[in-house]
Amino acid sequence: MRETYRKCLGLVAGLFLLTPAFAADEVVVYSSRTEELIKPLFDLYTKESGVPIRYVTDSGGPLLARLKAEGANTPADVLITVDAGNLWQAAESGLLQPVSSDVLDANVPAHLRDPQGQWYGLSLRARTIVYSTARVSPDELSSYEDLADVRWKGRVCLRSSKSVYNQSLVAMMIARLGPERAADVVKGWVNNLATAPFANDTRLMEAMAAGQCDVGIVNSYYFGRLQKERADVPLALFWPNQGEGDGVHVNVAGAGVTRHAGNVDGALKLIEWLSAPEAQRMFAGRNMEYPVNPEVDPNAELVQWGSFRQDPRNIADAGRLQAQAVMLMDRAGYR
Ligand code: FE
Repeated sequence: MRETYRKCLGLVAGLFLLTPAFAADEVVVYSSRTEELIKPLFDLYTKESGVPIRYVTDSGGPLLARLKAEGANTPADVLITVDAGNLWQAAESGLLQPVSSDVLDANVPAHLRDPQGQWYGLSLRARTIVYSTARVSPDELSSYEDLADVRWKGRVCLRSSKSVYNQSLVAMMIARLGPERAADVVKGWVNNLATAPFANDTRLMEAMAAGQCDVGIVNSYYFGRLQKERADVPLALFWPNQGEGDGVHVNVAGAGVTRHAGNVDGALKLIEWLSAPEAQRMFAGRNMEYPVNPEVDPNAELVQWGSFRQDPRNIADAGRLQAQAVMLMDRAGYR
């Protein structure tokens, strides 16, 4: 009896030493970032730390609904999702918990994380102006607001207002300009539309390249993807609002520890690792986004677009003002 007990102990100890993965508590991740973007990171993390990761990928909405329905019984320790508006919603719905971490505070700039520590940006995308190099000169461009000017009448392309990306853009414009001025700008954009809003940024740029419009607003990585497919595409990015205290509208993909995480420590360690240089290069680079960690340079293809000043306001405002932005766009006739 005793002998068997000792043998068992020996066996357990042996496994413990030989396979750290066996000993470590696994971390469960719900991610709206696709498998092809996150799996290589998780594989590397497991290789380096010995901690196994189990993950589920789905769209943001269904993942939040699932977390809500599972409540205290959720197996999820970490939520990864896209857009500060969605991260804010998750926190607001009580699905995340605040954590404090010197590593995250050092690696993630303050305007790209929740002031309460419920979520942290991990990659950055710029929602910026794209223009036809055939019909527009960059010195004609200056700001998002300027696209409301009558001289752009019949020349503007926009993505649908149903996109959370545009809801966040308008929410941050409310934070920056106040609701009245923001409403005037959105009305101006709608008056200047060349055609009905598009379902996504890629369609918008294809229409622009085909001559349907001259200026629009898109996420930088969609432009990067298009440029990769068609090096000669007659479009370019422009960085608007570069004055002091102002900047390009930026947003994040990010992560938070779930409210009912069974492995809070493991969850936090994973998020910290994702914010460090090695993982940052992969997390951002694989999707042609910018790293949030200021110590890490973006990929070469992004460097060629030039550097820009970011809107310094905390992107939590994109969530806080989202409902107001949706109402404002609706009243402006932006569909
Ligand atoms: Fe996207």
